[in-house]
Amino acid sequence: MTTRDTEAVKELLASPKKIAITTHRNPDGDAMGSSLGLYHYLIKKGHYPTVIVPNDFPDFLSWLPATEKVMVFENETGPATKILEEADIIFTLDYNALSRTGDKMQQALQQQEGKTFIMIDHHQAPDNYAQYMFSDTAYGSTCEMIYNFIDSMSEKNLIDTTMATCLYTGIVTDSGSFRYPSTTGTTHRIAAEFIDLGIDNSAIHSLLYDNHSHNRIQILARALQNMQVIPANKTSYTYMSHEELTGFGNSKGDTEGIVNYGLSMKDIVFTAFFTENKDEGIIKISFRSKGDFDVNQYAREHFNGGGHKNAAGGKSADTLEATIKKFIATLAHTKID
Ligand code: 5GP
Ligand code: MN
Repeated sequence: MTTRDTEAVKELLASPKKIAITTHRNPDGDAMGSSLGLYHYLIKKGHYPTVIVPNDFPDFLSWLPATEKVMVFENETGPATKILEEADIIFTLDYNALSRTGDKMQQALQQQEGKTFIMIDHHQAPDNYAQYMFSDTAYGSTCEMIYNFIDSMSEKNLIDTTMATCLYTGIVTDSGSFRYPSTTGTTHRIAAEFIDLGIDNSAIHSLLYDNHSHNRIQILARALQNMQVIPANKTSYTYMSHEELTGFGNSKGDTEGIVNYGLSMKDIVFTAFFTENKDEGIIKISFRSKGDFDVNQYAREHFNGGGHKNAAGGKSADTLEATIKKFIATLAHTKID
């Protein structure tokens, strides 16, 4: 945002407003952490915010403060649409195009055209729907951007352990626990500030990563068994069929993070994880890479998706087998090094 934008947003937030805070479909740690971090900040400033997520968030994030107040658009379409209609301001966090909220919520958001939209996001190639855009791919997480946003409002002093807990969560999950190249000295300095403020950082890591169900471990075991390696292309991939997933009694979030195992092998720089979702009639694909291979570009070109250079997603309307076949075929004319 330009200085002029910052001043305009400051002015907007100077008096109590009805505010909707929205995230992308299948909200992750960064989407939930940033929206709830912003929610607590806006409450503290005397506003009337509501967080609306397109569909349910995973169980492993349900401990975040105020998740019980979050509206799930898919389950409460009428009341959530009313909140959007009545809002003075709509924040769109951790996504770069309204289509990322799914068909139904996208429609409801498009109907609010003319309203003040504020985008805070770190994905590439953002659409141009927001009046105020704080979009920067240099940031490792939207949570880090929310910290900056609050700082730009000259209100860092308002950040308390509740907000910091939410924001720390997204910083940790989107940086792979401070591992990915987007992690900077500033990322660590912000985390340090939050720890000095009194958040229980060790407990947050445990809540996020040592909190799996037995089912999830069985799903992980099957995904590891299914793993295939294509050494000539420095590529690996794995998959889960609908039957495998439901056979283990999966719940939301159970497949989260599994894609990263494909990159944990020596000399592998590109990996994909295919999950069959018969309810939605699609194959959801997660892509990850190490180094220069740009999976955002790859996902856009071949699988109707996008994301970041080293972490992207996509989808396919083909069968699981046909999708994997197509994936293998693309490798022949994809330069991976
Ligand atoms: P994941 O594999 O964890 O679902 O997604 C990795 C990254 O890619 C996330 O930042 C996510 O927002 C982005 N992403 C996932 N699926 C899609 C998609 O279909 N389109 C776009 N543009 N981005 C996606
Ligand atoms: Mn993010």
